[in-house]
Amino acid sequence: MQNNSLAPQPLILTSWKQKLALTLAGIAVLLLLVVAFARNAFAPAPVLLTALGLMAAGAVLFVREEYLTRPEGIKNNGVWFRSLSARGVWAWLAAIVLTGFYSVLYFGPSAWFAGLTDLFNPLSLLVKGKAADKWFVYGSLYTFSVLVMGFKFGFKYRHNRYQVFRTISVSFFRLGFAFLIPAFMQQMNQPEYYFTYFWPLKDWYGTPSAAKYFGGYAIGPYLLAFGALMTFVATPVLTYFFGKRWYCSWVCGCGGLAETAGDPFRHLSDKSLKSWKIERWMIHSVLVAVVLVTGLLWVNSYQKGAVLGAYSQTFYSWYGYIIGMAFSGVVGVGFYPLMGSRVWCRFGCPQAAILGIFQKKKSKFRITTNGGQCISCGNCSTYCEMGIDVRHYAQRGQDVVRASCVGCGICAAVCPRGVLRLEGAAADVDARATDLRTVHVRLEEVGILEQ
Ligand code: SF4
Ligand code: SF4
Repeated sequence: MQNNSLAPQPLILTSWKQKLALTLAGIAVLLLLVVAFARNAFAPAPVLLTALGLMAAGAVLFVREEYLTRPEGIKNNGVWFRSLSARGVWAWLAAIVLTGFYSVLYFGPSAWFAGLTDLFNPLSLLVKGKAADKWFVYGSLYTFSVLVMGFKFGFKYRHNRYQVFRTISVSFFRLGFAFLIPAFMQQMNQPEYYFTYFWPLKDWYGTPSAAKYFGGYAIGPYLLAFGALMTFVATPVLTYFFGKRWYCSWVCGCGGLAETAGDPFRHLSDKSLKSWKIERWMIHSVLVAVVLVTGLLWVNSYQKGAVLGAYSQTFYSWYGYIIGMAFSGVVGVGFYPLMGSRVWCRFGCPQAAILGIFQKKKSKFRITTNGGQCISCGNCSTYCEMGIDVRHYAQRGQDVVRASCVGCGICAAVCPRGVLRLEGAAADVDARATDLRTVHVRLEEVGILEQ
């Protein structure tokens, strides 16, 4: 019987079908754990196929029940009441598991991944032509997560064309340019190169050792030229036309995971002025650090090691440990359930810092607002993963032009009044309104419009 009561209803977390879906996914995780510890006890190919198949089946069943069998519209029902998405016990457990996984991945011995590398060997031999290592296991699971959670995200926002477009885009770039193509290149005895990452995000690509490594291949100079072109030409030009969303929301692997697997946590980003201040200090400090480190490595190389001496490698390794691993991996993903999905993008990514400077200073991208329609519900601010108080701008009818905005468009998607639009316009809304008024007055002057 339909319940029309306006009083708060008890939250029903899952139907039996969703419980079944979660059970399937749980069995798959259990299978992976058993194989990780019981090495050589199973034939890898069937177990891998079974585990990934169960997870995919669980995801399809869950998504169908959650989004396809209910009325149209974006569903964020109960996010503040669920333990996992409201910093409850499950969220803390998830954060501990994720940070633990990343800590072991980056800082633990490779031998701890021996069971999983055995399991992924058939896939690695197929696409790379060589045995798997722990990074192949990680890359495969990462890609699988983006695809499966991208499927979920795509269905949740399927009535919004922009969301569908960018979900297909991040999934495509992750699968093709950050997984298959680098693997195929190794199959063809070429260097492993990730076309979706460039300096300063992939800081190693800007160092003398990368130049030496790629220089050893005939294709190497072209790859280095491609990287330089992306950093120094494509970044400012594309950001001028599209804002930083062309990279952060359409291409980047970190952004891809945040937008798909991180979607249930986007509302957890801190919207306070204090965190905005911390964010600006931190992200620009990392940018300065990566520029200094890269510059120093080149000076050191030019001086034949005289500057850093025996510490050359240690110096760069420490930067990699602190920023590349501890920050982007352990904290960046591990803290999804506690601080939202864009911790790394917001506080640490040097690429986001550069894109943000261009976006703020010289870009046509802006979110326009129709202030008269705003009912101050705050949906836009709540679901902004970058902690931007969008409502503040909407209430005043101001364009949102913020360095940190990744152009995900969720604020516009969840606005019940259609107040927000992601647009490309050279001038602020006030200047454009003045133009419109001027045209209007001139038309009146020449008698085309009645007074
Ligand atoms: S979601 Fe829309 S109506 Fe609600 S505060 Fe934001 S702009 Fe205003
Ligand atoms: S302001 Fe809107 S488009 Fe920009 S990051 Fe926040 S939710 Fe995404």
